[in-house]
Amino acid sequence: MTKVSCPICEKKMPGPHIEWPDYPFCSPKCRKIDLGRWLGESYRVPAEEQGSREEDSNSE
Ligand SMILES: [Zn+2]
Repeated sequence: MTKVSCPICEKKMPGPHIEWPDYPFCSPKCRKIDLGRWLGESYRVPAEEQGSREEDSNSE
């Protein structure tokens, strides 16, 4: 048996989750919160510098 709870408010979800319109969240509110977190974190992730290193140790 697997009990699922809302990842945002950790509210235990009763019944089969297939019935939740906002799975895996308990409500549209929690879904929104999760989305906001996601977007908030995505721009916090440092962009990896790709070949933008300036190494001038090989100059002739
Ligand atoms: Zn919730």
